[in-house]
Amino acid sequence: MKIIMLGAPGAGKGTQAKMIADKYSIPHISTGDIFRANIKNGTELGMEAKKYMDQGQLVPDELTVRILLDRVAKDDCKNGYVLDGFPRTIPQAEVLDSELTKLGDKIDFAINVDVPDENIVNRMSGRRACVTCGATYHIVHIPPKNAGVCDKCGSELILRDDDKPETVLKRLSVYHEQTQPLIEFYDKKGVLKNVDGTVDSAEVFDQITGILG
Ligand code: ADP
Ligand code: AMP
Repeated sequence: MKIIMLGAPGAGKGTQAKMIADKYSIPHISTGDIFRANIKNGTELGMEAKKYMDQGQLVPDELTVRILLDRVAKDDCKNGYVLDGFPRTIPQAEVLDSELTKLGDKIDFAINVDVPDENIVNRMSGRRACVTCGATYHIVHIPPKNAGVCDKCGSELILRDDDKPETVLKRLSVYHEQTQPLIEFYDKKGVLKNVDGTVDSAEVFDQITGILG
C-alpha cells in the first residue's frame, strides 16, 4: 500500500503517518526527518537544506526528489510506504508519478488532513520534538508524561527552529502557494481522501483506518 499524507505544516501528518506505519507495517518516510537527521550529522546535504528550512522555504525540488527516490528504492519499501511531507510541489508529484508508472505502480491513497490556518500556529508553537528519536508531542493536546522528556527514549524535547511563529506564517504561505495544488492533482487521479484533522488524533486515525481498511 502506497500512501501520501497531504495537509498544511502542523496538520498532524507525521502523527498520523507514524500510526499508519505501525498498523500496516510499512515504513514512514518523512523528507523533513531525513533533512533534520542530515543537519544533526553535519552532512553537506544537511547544510544545504538548513539554509531553506530556517527561512520557512522549501528545499529545491532537485535535491528533495533525489533523496526521496533513493529512499523508496530500498528493500523495506517493497510492500509500500507512507510518505509524510513529500511531495510538496507539483513537479515533485510528477516525478514520483512517472517513476512509479515506469515500475507499473501507483499511489493508492492521498490522505488530506484538513486543518484550518487558525489552528496551525497553535499546533506548531506547542509542538515538541525529541532530539534523538524524532517522536513528536504537543504541550497541551498530546503531552509527554514528564514535561520536556521523551516518553519513548528519555531524551530532551525541543521546539523546532522552524516552528517559531514568524517562520510558521511563512511556511503556511508557502504551503498555500506550492503544496495545496496537490489536492486537486490527486483528486484528478481519483485517490484523494479528505479527513477532518481538527478532532482528537485518535479520531483522525479512526477516519483514516476507515478509508484504508
Ligand atoms: P505535521 O507532520 O503535519 O507537520 P505533526 O504530526 O507534527 O504535524 O503535528 C503538529 C503538532 O500538532 C504536534 O505538536 C502534534 O503533537 C499535534 N497534533 C497532531 N495531531 C493532533 C490532533 N488531532 N489534535 C491536536 N494536536 C495534534
Ligand atoms: P516537515 O518536517 O515536513 O515539516 O519539513 C520541514 C522542512 O523541511 C520544510 O519546511 C522544508 O523546508 C523542508 N522539506 C521537507 N520536505 C520537503 C519537500 N518535499 N520539498 C521541499 N522541502 C521539504
